[in-house]
Amino acid sequence: MDIIGIRLKDALEKAGCPICNILKKYETDLIEEILYEHVNNPSVREKFKKSLGLCTYHAWKLESIAYSNPLYGSLGVAIIYEHMLSLYLSSLKCQNKIKERKCFLCKSVEEKEEHTIGALVDRIEELFGFYESSKAIFCKEHYTMLYDKLKTENPQMSERLRKVQIRKLETLGERLNKFIEKFDYRSTESPTKDEIMSVTLSIESLKGLPLGINFTRRRKKRSLLKDIFNEY
Ligand SMILES: [Zn+2]
Ligand SMILES: [Zn+2]
Repeated sequence: MDIIGIRLKDALEKAGCPICNILKKYETDLIEEILYEHVNNPSVREKFKKSLGLCTYHAWKLESIAYSNPLYGSLGVAIIYEHMLSLYLSSLKCQNKIKERKCFLCKSVEEKEEHTIGALVDRIEELFGFYESSKAIFCKEHYTMLYDKLKTENPQMSERLRKVQIRKLETLGERLNKFIEKFDYRSTESPTKDEIMSVTLSIESLKGLPLGINFTRRRKKRSLLKDIFNEY
């Protein structure tokens, strides 16, 4: 197994969505790298300028990572956002509307997502067994992306994936049900570790982890007029 395969295998063996978990680490590593060595890097600053300081999600993520680790602290954030604030201020003075383009962190995570799904499809035969027997469960979005790609490239595996996904969701539902039952006053048992975990895993299996990519994609979908008319 190559190094990419080993990384995928590790993710497939952990509870939760393997793709979300890989992207979460990737996103955090990127932000830490910026705070650690690129605060004053002109090319990185150019990228910040394009979206006037990242999207809302990543701006707050940057702030929270910086403040939670004394190694980074608030200075880097202050330097970057002093610059962004000055850009906004001059646009107001010149009455030039600033165009906020797509956040570069969102773009990077999207690319990583595509590569990860592609890498998994390429190695699906050797990796599938690890997913099948672990507590991992693809979130709805990542299951759909993977399933669609497999359906065209490896239809047999797409069907295996669908069956395993159903079984995993059923097991999760049963655990959630037992968790609820144990709150009954007649119950003498406490919920097991798996039953306790089923609560967060249920949210994760439907909505994915709180990553920028999951927020923006859902907002984009919702904003389509067609969807709005269909919903109401
Ligand atoms: Zn996911
Ligand atoms: Zn972003």
